Amino acid sequence: MPGAFFMTDSQKSKEYGSIIDCPICRNLPQKKELDLEHVGQGKVPAELNQLSVVLLFNLEPEHQYSSNTVKLLKCPKCGTYYYFNHYVDEGEHFMDPTSNDILIRRYPPLTVIHFLEGIINEIPGTFPQPIGKLKVAFMEGRYPYPNEPSEKGRGESLETVTKELGEIKGRYNTIIEEFTDVVKEESPEWHLKKYMVESLAMHFAKEDDWSSISELLLKHKDPVIRVEALSFLVDYSLGNAGVIDLIHVPYDIREKLEKIVKRRKKHLDEIVQVASELALSKHGYTYEYDPGFGESKYYKASIQAVGLQNIAVLARYRDLSHLVPQLINLLSEDENLNYHVCWTLEPISKESRENAKLILELINKVDRKIRQDKEVQRLIKECEEQIKKRKKGKEKKKKPT
Ligand SMILES: [Zn+2]
Repeated sequence: MPGAFFMTDSQKSKEYGSIIDCPICRNLPQKKELDLEHVGQGKVPAELNQLSVVLLFNLEPEHQYSSNTVKLLKCPKCGTYYYFNHYVDEGEHFMDPTSNDILIRRYPPLTVIHFLEGIINEIPGTFPQPIGKLKVAFMEGRYPYPNEPSEKGRGESLETVTKELGEIKGRYNTIIEEFTDVVKEESPEWHLKKYMVESLAMHFAKEDDWSSISELLLKHKDPVIRVEALSFLVDYSLGNAGVIDLIHVPYDIREKLEKIVKRRKKHLDEIVQVASELALSKHGYTYEYDPGFGESKYYKASIQAVGLQNIAVLARYRDLSHLVPQLINLLSEDENLNYHVCWTLEPISKESRENAKLILELINKVDRKIRQDKEVQRLIKECEEQIKKRKKGKEKKKKPT
């Protein structure tokens, strides 16, 4: 098989339409994972065939029974990019675990630029490792083999890569301006909100422009925009995202985000503020990703629950004991909400014995019926254990932020 295959993109000089009303991208999810061993080819979105193949690499296989195809796809109508990976591992030895996985991710403009520059400059890690490959390496207790194109494949692609880089850089500012206008003026579909928030947050992080992250995203009147910005910041500046997501966000952007958030107190304070506002009352719904079994999907999730999850992460970086009374006030006969509230209070209880005591004291005042909720009971036990454990031991030191 040839190392690389290119298709000249005849759309290059053409003006692209907006992704907002793109008939192709409308039907493509932000992120899709399929395990073809468990679901059929029929689950691959049909719209994929309508995208142009900008680049195709057959990466160096792990062994003779594996193949690893990466494509950079581009929507001919709106110029949006998609990363595509098909990873097949039939097992080198008898009983080896096998994979036949497809991954599709809509790539923000900055990620595309980093990807193309990474190919030109031969930066290791430019091609994110497929999950199947990471799993096997993890099971065998070793690092995965590098995920790289052959020298020949890379060499043959350089001309296309350079052209494409020029093309995307040429319209980068226009895309950012468009996304900014859309976020300000319109209310696109939820999956486009996710994509635009991610694209803009990355752009502002690169520019070291916290005030735009704050004004345009975190203070937005639309709670979906606010919660998406919040989750993005918590996921990528505090490293809360799973490795399978982290590897698709360029390292220097993550480093930049971490620097902006962790090293400046007022920025983390603002994030905590937004998370608290969203967590302490109802704000409608957004959609969250679920890798699923065989086929990923997005499920409807309450913004309040996502806010609570973010509070649970932030508790590792800030003393959030002041939120305990309001969080306990949320306990009700709504079992689902109780579940999220209790999982948020637990990390707070672990930060100090005083916190655990405060939580117990306040829980004792809530209605007896609510106290019988199984999550509340679990939290009570956790707090009691915290208090016992810490009686003799030293208080856990707060992580420096
Ligand atoms: Zn499109």
